[in-house]
Amino acid sequence: MERKKIRNFSIIAHIDHGKSTLADRLLQMTNTVSDRDMEEQLLDNMDLERERGITIKAHPVTMSYKANNDEIYELNLIDTPGHVDFAYEVSRSLAACEGAVLIIDATQGVQAQTVANIDLAMKQGLTIVPVLNKIDLPGTDLAMCYEQLEEILAIPAEEALHCSAKSGEGIPEIIEAIIDRIPCPPEVEEKTLASLIVDSSYDSYRGVVNYVRVFSGEVRAKDQITMFSTGKSYEVKEVGVFTPKMKALDVLSEGSVGYLIANIKDTADSKIGDTITSKMDPVTEALPGFAEVLPMVYSGVYPIDSADFETLRLSMGKLQLNDPSFVYQAESSAALGFGFRCGFLGLLHMEIVQERLRRHYDMDIISTYPSVVYHVYLKDGEMVQVDNPVYLPDPSAIDYIEEPVISANIMIPNDYIGAAMSLIMEKRGLCENTVAVDERHVMLSASLPLHEIVIDFNDRLKSMTKGYGSMNYKPSGYQQAPLVKLEMKVNDDPIDAFASIVHRDAAESRGRKIAERLKAVVPRQMFTIAIQAYVGGNIVARETISAMRKNVTAKCYGGDISRKRKLLEKQKAGKKRMKQIGNVNIPQEAFVQVLKAS
Ligand code: GDP
Ligand code: MG
Repeated sequence: MERKKIRNFSIIAHIDHGKSTLADRLLQMTNTVSDRDMEEQLLDNMDLERERGITIKAHPVTMSYKANNDEIYELNLIDTPGHVDFAYEVSRSLAACEGAVLIIDATQGVQAQTVANIDLAMKQGLTIVPVLNKIDLPGTDLAMCYEQLEEILAIPAEEALHCSAKSGEGIPEIIEAIIDRIPCPPEVEEKTLASLIVDSSYDSYRGVVNYVRVFSGEVRAKDQITMFSTGKSYEVKEVGVFTPKMKALDVLSEGSVGYLIANIKDTADSKIGDTITSKMDPVTEALPGFAEVLPMVYSGVYPIDSADFETLRLSMGKLQLNDPSFVYQAESSAALGFGFRCGFLGLLHMEIVQERLRRHYDMDIISTYPSVVYHVYLKDGEMVQVDNPVYLPDPSAIDYIEEPVISANIMIPNDYIGAAMSLIMEKRGLCENTVAVDERHVMLSASLPLHEIVIDFNDRLKSMTKGYGSMNYKPSGYQQAPLVKLEMKVNDDPIDAFASIVHRDAAESRGRKIAERLKAVVPRQMFTIAIQAYVGGNIVARETISAMRKNVTAKCYGGDISRKRKLLEKQKAGKKRMKQIGNVNIPQEAFVQVLKAS
């Protein structure tokens, strides 16, 4: 396609504002997908994504459209994920575009993630096409949206289009606006190939499928290409576009978006953000790539049945091919057996990975209390990074500990300011600024420890504001805090899987909670069992399980009969599930019960 007829764009929106629905309407309106084949939310092709209404994996789609001026245009839609945990994927997608359609739910108005996404888009110099969606709903408040567009986003209200992605009203106007307002890919002097790897996937027969944006030159099958960062060369096997199925083409030229397959078998050789260039005539400078993202949250993930360990390892490997931001490493625990230490970008990312393991790979897993990466300064002047409480050095060797902090923007209706501020304080945060964004909404800026956000901040904010509050955050460095290691012990032996790093003031209540839960699930034995929560050398909570008398089962477990029976059946299933902590035998199921609740 001729450069001037190409439009590369993304759709950006706060979660649930209608990005996927609009994408589906565009596919339909351009006859990319026939009405008959139209499956609800075609771009979100994973069950999990559909259920949670989020798009995790960006995947470009090429559409062809005859505009009002009778010219045919190529529209490349690059879908972006809407959640804060995936900001890196958003900017990655935006780097391949000249414009973005900004969707705002007209009943809700601008939300925190709308602002975050717009910031990313404006930084990349993209042309924004603002669209107010869901105008079929009775709660539509266009006046509020216009005011917010101007006040918060500095976008003139008259630029806004409106539509109902559900009914299809207003969609043709949006396509015309994409063609009229978003510039075509710029003309470049460079004629040699420079193509950005925007994303990739893995096909077991054909190897790595690179999703690319060609910035200069062109590429076809049989061309010799070189990866700029590794210097490795390959022969191109096939180039093409997603329609949304893969469709091979003769050539991908300047300005276009599509895929490139080159018999690359090792995913490590195809780095997202790298530049693909010509082997014979390489460019001298790489295209601006992407910063590598580092995991911010860690947790142990264990198979409930230790026989599943190898299968779990394989499943994690496959998952990582599709999601390089997820990292894992084998580890073992006395309580849980063999498993993995896993790193995630944030809480949502962690939940999604675990759900995928459970559903797509049918794995029965349990995970430990999440941890962030602490900077531990030792008395000898050294600094060590700790993401696993088990490896926190002895308190006597520690000078001080720093934890990661984030700066958050929280958008809420005025009525909830007081409640939001006390939640921030409860979570050890600091409110820095409050700005009225319109008559009914404010934006709070606050600084908070990442660990508190990871635990339950977002859920609390949502339920407290009846779903109207929204939050967006970015890392803002490290800060010193009185953090301690909370350890749980049975008869003086530590249960490694329950160790956690917590704020000094929260240690006692957390210790007491876990001790109570353990007491309810650890079976009685021939001797008394002391369950103790320790901080440093001090006991902060204690429960006692008295020695067993005659009736073995009657008081074994708290809880209802059916659970008791299930536990007994599980125990019968094999003694291998029993874990020995010191002199105490504890069924793994007991640990699982407590971890699930904590
Ligand atoms: P995304 O998270 O931005 O991808 O949002 P979705 O496209 O998944 O939409 C979220 C919800 O809003 C879904 O239940 C959609 O059916 C609904 N929705 C999207 N657009 C409209 C619209 O124009 N009108 C109405 N009434 N509902 C819509
Ligand atoms: Mg979606």
